Amino acid sequence: MARFDYDLITIGAGSGGVRASRLAGRYGAKVAVIEESRYGGTCVMRGCVPKKLLVIGSHFAQHFEDAVGFGWTIQGATHDWGAMISAKNKELDRLEGIYKRLLRDANVSLIDGRGVIADPHTVEVNGQRMTAEKILVAVGGWPVVPEFPGHEHVISSNEALDLPTRPKRIVIIGGGYIAVEFAGVFAALGSVVTLIIRSGQILRGFDQDVRSTLAEEIEKDGIKIRRDCRIRSVEKAGAGYSVMFDLGDEIIADCVMVATGRAPNTATLGLKEAGVTLNTKGAVKVDEWNRSSVESIFAVGDVTDRINLTPVAINEGRVFAETFFNKNPLTLDYTNVASAVFSQPPVGVVGFTEEEARAKHKVRLFISRFKPMKHTLSGRDERTMMKLIVDRATDKVLGCHMVGDDAPEIIQGLAVALKCGATKAQFDATVGIHPTAAEEFVTMRDPVPEKEAPEA
Ligand code: NDP
Repeated sequence: MARFDYDLITIGAGSGGVRASRLAGRYGAKVAVIEESRYGGTCVMRGCVPKKLLVIGSHFAQHFEDAVGFGWTIQGATHDWGAMISAKNKELDRLEGIYKRLLRDANVSLIDGRGVIADPHTVEVNGQRMTAEKILVAVGGWPVVPEFPGHEHVISSNEALDLPTRPKRIVIIGGGYIAVEFAGVFAALGSVVTLIIRSGQILRGFDQDVRSTLAEEIEKDGIKIRRDCRIRSVEKAGAGYSVMFDLGDEIIADCVMVATGRAPNTATLGLKEAGVTLNTKGAVKVDEWNRSSVESIFAVGDVTDRINLTPVAINEGRVFAETFFNKNPLTLDYTNVASAVFSQPPVGVVGFTEEEARAKHKVRLFISRFKPMKHTLSGRDERTMMKLIVDRATDKVLGCHMVGDDAPEIIQGLAVALKCGATKAQFDATVGIHPTAAEEFVTMRDPVPEKEAPEA
């Protein structure tokens, strides 16, 4: 008789958990996945996918305006928020069905409920205990709402994706990925959007030129950014809310959204009791093999708080399954992971920021700012920014950054080049595709003059 009920029990059917479970199942392991909410997890149900659908939906507003410069007459275009939300929800239902089918096709048992670790080989769910040789924790994260008077009135990105009506005035607290992306959605559809940031600039951690360029562009689109500003309280005021700030002033809004980061979902999961070491943020500490401090317990994805991106979680799930269920030991290389912010205009980045590069290398910088071709006729006052950071000693391209239409699509390709260790000379030797914005990345010849970019 088998020593355990399963070879693998995965808690959490998000991007990382599903990939690990599917692969392990396909390699012949007996696998169960436990999910308390919806199959697909944050990315598919509450994050990347629904957010991107709303970004696409809201961006039509600009397309309609821009079309006029090309001879179109667009009359009576109106937007139905409810129709967009229900179309989006229909798509999420379809995707959830696909996720479930993919798991079942890989012989994975689907268990609905909240899984809690009872001991290093036992998980309790719906009052039943089941054992496994290995337990994979893939429970992701959850929005953090800071404590302030009236914080119970605010919504997070979870609720923002399902608002019954579009708020005419919205205050968004935070200046990270989520805040900037949702600000773009609401502003494009006509809401008055105020972004409240506690520091001097949005998108901490990104290259300074990306941060300032995007801030400038979204401010041109009407998004108000209140810098160095802290919230004091939120109070109900008629049908809306009064948002009070530390300096004593207030804004009235129909909706207050908080996007001040996410925290690992590890509370009450039984991890500490089972001996699993968590870091100060509550993330599961794992080694390069995704193994926690307990031999039989592993973790992948946002719950480990490494690089909190879906494709990273998927790849962590993949290498875990390859290593332990396919005798193919693999670890993930976390260098040059590209990422994007689906703001309007969007951001795409890969590699070092200028600041990170200067800390280790002497660099040459190449920056291009231009009006995209489309806007020569549309008349929109929007500019694209592209930046290359090159190691002076080796000529290797250390970072590529872009703010502008199609930036995520363009940077994905350049991420391959950086992964291959491409040099500036190789970028220069690449013939561009004309007329595109992307060709600018292979035609930037003149470095930013020294006095503007002093050597590190
Ligand atoms: P981020 O960590 O990106 O940003 C948090 C923001 O909130 C920062 O601007 C931060 O300010 C601010 N903040 C933090 N605490 C407070 C506070 N107590 N009061 C006021 N402001 C505060 O978090 P997000 O919620 O935007 O996103 C969470 C994660 O989700 C991201 O890190 C990312 O990994 C992932 N994600 C990725 C996306 C993508 O790839 N396109 C899209 C959405 C999410 P400060 O700068 O001063 O610290």
